Amino acid sequence: MSGARETAQALVLSVQSWSNSSQIVRLLTEAHGSISVIARGSRRMTSDFRYGPLDVMQWGSACLEKQSDGFRLVGFEAVGSFARLAAHHERLLAAFDVIEILRDGTRAVSQPGLLRLALETLAAFEHGEVTTLEAVLLRFELQFLILSGRAPHLDACVHCGREAPAPKPARLDPLQGGLICRTCLRGSADRLVPLSPAARAALHGLARSADPREAAAMLADARVRASLIPLLRMLVGLSLDHPLPVLALSRT
Ligand SMILES: [Zn+2]
Repeated sequence: MSGARETAQALVLSVQSWSNSSQIVRLLTEAHGSISVIARGSRRMTSDFRYGPLDVMQWGSACLEKQSDGFRLVGFEAVGSFARLAAHHERLLAAFDVIEILRDGTRAVSQPGLLRLALETLAAFEHGEVTTLEAVLLRFELQFLILSGRAPHLDACVHCGREAPAPKPARLDPLQGGLICRTCLRGSADRLVPLSPAARAALHGLARSADPREAAAMLADARVRASLIPLLRMLVGLSLDHPLPVLALSRT
């Protein structure tokens, strides 16, 4: 007996072939988070899968059928696939980094705003200047942390709550996910990351930014960018429980 059906906007995070005609697909959806679903018949051109087999970075409208233990994918209406990314190595590198973070860092739990963030980031990689890839990726990483409930604490000491005035340099402990005041330094001094007032202001700007195209201007200062790249990679890597690679992306 088939269960109730619903339609959800979805981004394909991974695909595996299964049997001659089907696929096992990981989808990022707004309502259910990331879910693995069986798509019977998706490798054949049928009316339910008229764009043929699903592929990573395709996005569109997924028809999901409720099962006792999850969902089955019974149809997919592709809207786009960020096809122009494939023509450029660095754009593709940045896009797969985002896909990998989403694949490893999401579960079947709704994270409102994450699908929108993923789609607008991939679109910015596809259409923006190559020299903005790094800044757009930094914005994604910070907003991913925020939407995952792991936003770094940037205004006060994570230990004692003492306020850290914005015009002063501060230090952040990546393992504790926030600023540490002088009094609370204790044994963590060797892993502290210095944060200049400009770097902290840039983080606040990126956190609030509603458009990935704003990121490059917020990170125009090369020193700020250079300090935030390893910091955000580390914070996201800690949230995924494995380190992320250093990406060699073009700079201005
Ligand atoms: Zn403190």
